[in-house]
Amino acid sequence: MIKAVTGTRDILPTDIPKWKYLESIIKSVFTLYNYKEIRTPVFEETSLFARGIGEATDIVSKEMYTFLDRSGESLTLRPEMTAGVVRAFIEHSLDKKQNLSKLYYVSPMFRQERPQAGRLRQFHQFGAEAIGSYDPLLDAEMIIMAYEIFKALGLKNLLVKINSLGVPASREDYKKKLAEYLQPYFDKLSNESKKRFETNILRIFDSKEAEDQKIMKDAPLLIDHLDDESLSHFAKVKQVLTSAQIPFEIDAMLVRGLDYYTNTTFEIVSGSVGSQSALCGGGRYNGLVKELGGDDVPGVGFAAGMERILLACENEKSFSLNDETVDLYLVVIEKELGNYAYQTAVELRRKGLIVDMDYLGRSVKAQMREANKLNTGFVLFIGGEEYAKGELVLKNMKDGNQKSFPKDDLEKIFSSIKEN
Ligand code: AMP
Repeated sequence: MIKAVTGTRDILPTDIPKWKYLESIIKSVFTLYNYKEIRTPVFEETSLFARGIGEATDIVSKEMYTFLDRSGESLTLRPEMTAGVVRAFIEHSLDKKQNLSKLYYVSPMFRQERPQAGRLRQFHQFGAEAIGSYDPLLDAEMIIMAYEIFKALGLKNLLVKINSLGVPASREDYKKKLAEYLQPYFDKLSNESKKRFETNILRIFDSKEAEDQKIMKDAPLLIDHLDDESLSHFAKVKQVLTSAQIPFEIDAMLVRGLDYYTNTTFEIVSGSVGSQSALCGGGRYNGLVKELGGDDVPGVGFAAGMERILLACENEKSFSLNDETVDLYLVVIEKELGNYAYQTAVELRRKGLIVDMDYLGRSVKAQMREANKLNTGFVLFIGGEEYAKGELVLKNMKDGNQKSFPKDDLEKIFSSIKEN
């Protein structure tokens, strides 16, 4: 038997209502902040991600689904959305149409990671990008929007962590200090961290190895080496979050080790989902548009993992949805009336009712069982004495009341169901 590929998951009809609910909240919050939806292709030229995410990152060096197509071009299934959005921003000169582009997306992403709870190979993210302004209000806005979405879902066990990476110049000075500090411990570092020492020294802070963590505990922190402008940018972000009543913590170890990341970085973690606890992450990327061939335009954004969010909602029982049901079930009493019943169903559906009926040639008793199982509001009987008299009997399944209607007056049947 062929099974779904490791790390991919079917979203079955029973799961769809919670996905739709999550999507409706995402859309409503982004709409309130006047972000417009963007949809970009699922695959892009590989070089976009190599440049846009960075060769030294785990995503690019280990996790991308990269393949040569039949004409020999190297393509990659997108592992995240920012690079594609920025490419579209440049390609369509969105900045000529609007000085500030406020964009959001909801899309599947692909990374060849080791699957575990909350970590998949095809997963879904929503997120936002604001491209065109240096204003720290927008850094705070990303955090506020993510937080509002989580709150609207009823999530409680949340922690907002923020940090500032400053600008590349001050960061370069700091990296030298960090290298000086780490030099004497170099031999004790894990192999991964030894590699990062050369390629991306800040990322040693991300190491999960106990020995690395022990060494990094006393390392100099970037936050203590920021330039004045970055400090005042960060102060403004904190002030806006405080007045918006978003609780946050400074996490000086929260780094994103890429050159075009600037100023704010943040993560919102949940205490309800186990080790893969980050529900979302983001930050400012003033160097990215230029890196990808556009003008020197600043940007800020975040991405949130939808499977993880739904897992947190489930573990916290943060919301419950009513079962989806049908308005009307047609019970066919005489088999030869099947076509007539079907036509009736089509007409009532055209009026806007959710209607279902039997397609399996079941007995009347079995059809009633099915109607009960579907938790239908009403049953319409097609056949029997009433039908011979030119009538259809409508049964209200909540109170058991039955009422007859002339069979050619579907409008009356429709209004009677709608009134309830
Ligand atoms: P990132 O793009 O790596 O900053 O991730 C942003 C968010 O996407 C994370 O906080 C997770 O919630 C989610 N995420 C990232 N990778 C995965 C994955 N492999 N499976 C499920 N969710 C993921």
